Amino acid sequence: MFRPVWIVVVAGVVSIADARPQREQANNMPRGFTWPPSKTMTEAAKACEAKLDELGVTWHVAKREGHIVDAITLPDSQIGGITYTNVYDKRAVVMDCQLVLALATFAPHLYELGVREVRVGSVYRWSKVRAFGKTKDMLSRHALGLAMDVVSFVDDTGREAIVAKDYKQDDELLLSIEREINDSGTFRVVLTPKNDPISHHDHFHIEANPDYSEPVRDKPSS
Ligand SMILES: [Zn+2]
Repeated sequence: MFRPVWIVVVAGVVSIADARPQREQANNMPRGFTWPPSKTMTEAAKACEAKLDELGVTWHVAKREGHIVDAITLPDSQIGGITYTNVYDKRAVVMDCQLVLALATFAPHLYELGVREVRVGSVYRWSKVRAFGKTKDMLSRHALGLAMDVVSFVDDTGREAIVAKDYKQDDELLLSIEREINDSGTFRVVLTPKNDPISHHDHFHIEANPDYSEPVRDKPSS
């Protein structure tokens, strides 16, 4: 009599847990992320491209790598008046549209702080999460083209604030950027020498946080 009831309860608990992914999922993927991309994700990509057009970002479709849903390059390397330069690679930066959109949304804040160039270590790479000196058994959002490692920021006077060297000197620009990114709610918490001194002593790790758990809906115009 009791045993079947107990099984039903357990099954119920499991299904509730599955239906409500945690903010920090064990697999580190965005909410609702599947591979290959679901219809919701494909629709989100189309909506993302339309928003980039609205924001005046010039973009091209790029070759998909890894699990990038919608690979994009920037022919003029510009997002909102800020230049994105690859430090270790002469090729244009390839990102998922959602990362470009998050950067485009955040661009006015970055511009206001005086930033004119972002020097990028890398965006796409097929890698696992590395934090606190340990590699975890979960795919990094770099493999999705959603995360960007930044080695330095150049301001409107031409000064380069280098994370590896200047962050520990309490560089005001770097600290302001960190604060603004976290206050904006546009990204996940930025990883810096402060919150991860071992694995992020020489770069900021900036990550877009799309939510694919809900179908794309047109926002009511206001
Ligand atoms: Zn990173």
